[in-house]
Amino acid sequence: MDKNKTNVFKGIIASGGIAIGRIFLIEEEEFAIVPKKIQKQNVKKEIDRFQGAIFKVKDELLTAKKEIIKVFGKEHVLLADAHLLMLEDPLLDRDVTRKINDEHVNAEYALWTTVEKVVQSFEKIDDEYFRERKNDVLEIGKRIMRQLTGPYRRSITEAHNGAVIVAHNLGPSDTIKLKERKVGAFVTDVGSKTSHIALFAQDLDIPAVVGLKNITATANHDDYVIVDGNQGLVIINPDEKTLENYQHEHEIELQERHELDKLRDLPAQTLDAHKVVIACNVDSPEELKAILNSGAEGIGLLRTEFMFLKENKMPSEESQYEALKTIVHKIHPHTAIVRTLDLGGDKLMQLGFEGFMRENNPFLGLRAIRLCFKNPEMFKTQLRAILRASAHGKIKIMFPMIASVDELITAKNFVEEVKHELKSKKQDFDDKIETGAMIEIPSAALTADMIACEADFLSIGTNDLIQYTFAVDRTNESVAYMYEPMHLSILRLIKHIIDAGHNAGKWVGMCGEMAADISFTKMLLGLGLDEFSVPPASVAKIKKVIRNSTLNDAKDLANEVLSTHERKVAVTALKKSHPQ
Ligand code: PEP
Ligand code: MG
Repeated sequence: MDKNKTNVFKGIIASGGIAIGRIFLIEEEEFAIVPKKIQKQNVKKEIDRFQGAIFKVKDELLTAKKEIIKVFGKEHVLLADAHLLMLEDPLLDRDVTRKINDEHVNAEYALWTTVEKVVQSFEKIDDEYFRERKNDVLEIGKRIMRQLTGPYRRSITEAHNGAVIVAHNLGPSDTIKLKERKVGAFVTDVGSKTSHIALFAQDLDIPAVVGLKNITATANHDDYVIVDGNQGLVIINPDEKTLENYQHEHEIELQERHELDKLRDLPAQTLDAHKVVIACNVDSPEELKAILNSGAEGIGLLRTEFMFLKENKMPSEESQYEALKTIVHKIHPHTAIVRTLDLGGDKLMQLGFEGFMRENNPFLGLRAIRLCFKNPEMFKTQLRAILRASAHGKIKIMFPMIASVDELITAKNFVEEVKHELKSKKQDFDDKIETGAMIEIPSAALTADMIACEADFLSIGTNDLIQYTFAVDRTNESVAYMYEPMHLSILRLIKHIIDAGHNAGKWVGMCGEMAADISFTKMLLGLGLDEFSVPPASVAKIKKVIRNSTLNDAKDLANEVLSTHERKVAVTALKKSHPQ
């Protein structure tokens, strides 16, 4: 590559913010996987060499795990644990050993061909979360390989403060070094929003862009680079004008951060003293630290799917209870709104759900509450765990994908049944626990008045509400242009839901991504939204908009936007409404 040529890469946003610095390139290793014949009498020695390498990697990972607990806390050992589990998988040992034994080939060849086979089988999995685990397998394979062939990978320990790490992937021991070296940002070829490394970046509060595919092949060590974590952009060798713009933006960002930090512990209250709640969405326990630091007043949406996906098997009541207990303890004195399982029928063969089959339209199929009704024992197990955890802190239960008031009544009957069982076993729980419905299906939105009479609260799931209103698959890039939160259909539905909730005397929150977009904050405030549940990084930004608004102005804005039939006019009104 031309040393000074500007190269722009677009990837997946893992953590926001801007960093400008020099690249510290961790080049991808090319492992020579040429089969070498091993003499019969040397086979045992070769197997010992392979097992010795596994032993050393295990040692490395255990040391990294101890460090991670010390530096980041227990919640962050998941990645190291996952790698240790893979390392201890008897299949890996058995397959490689057998290959050396049967084919008389060298350990490197036996290992790498086995790793490739496992990776290929992961690539065939539909579910993104499980497919992503192929990178963990590769990472483990490379670690063992490095022990066999000797290291020739640059170590982050050599990086200077503020460096931008460019790597194919990063492992658990790298994360510790990222912190020690105070790196400015990192970007990787692989990774997705669900990768552990993305969560580490958020925890370290440094910009990160992942899923860049081949940036390591193009980047040069020491090149100048801008990482724009807000837009998922990486600009290598930027021209002067771009650099100047970003330097300016970076300075503003630093100032803003400083200002936002000051808002952390202030209430989310308008200039005319109307108070709303800002809570956080939680996808996994690793995010709790960021939430506790964000100034949020509790958890507005705890997605419980992580408990089911983590172990690749149905979690026991005990493990669900323990996980929830830890979360409510940590979030005390605030409330955690625990959403019951929201998984689709397409992902779950391995969990052994009743009624599982490959569906043509999984988003319209056996998903969320429907899957729970079809699997009453699984549903009751989860409800038992939630109810038992409610004895240790403040919990509310929320049901996803409620389509009608009848479904809410059925779900509540399950709760009553489980309460009855717990009482007969003399197990503690919060008998007054509140139950709410997510409103994310148009049929529920249009009958929100009836649902509100049965619910203690409503929470608008705009991610799905938009998907189902427009008949647009929220994960399909080809129709993404139709996914339009600003459309009058969506705004009218939101208004209808909030009014219905209020008429029944219930509070109404929003936990879809729309709640986190500051260009909608004032309008949602004006529509009467009582709670915004957002990612930790958005809490202070939303607070700032609310603290600079009056409820009356916000109501005027909502009326203006809702009464316009022209999208452009509505967008202009919203843009005018917030200074950013
Ligand atoms: C939503 O649909 O808006 C929502 C918050 O739920 P999820 O994104 O988990 O479907
Ligand atoms: Mg949803």
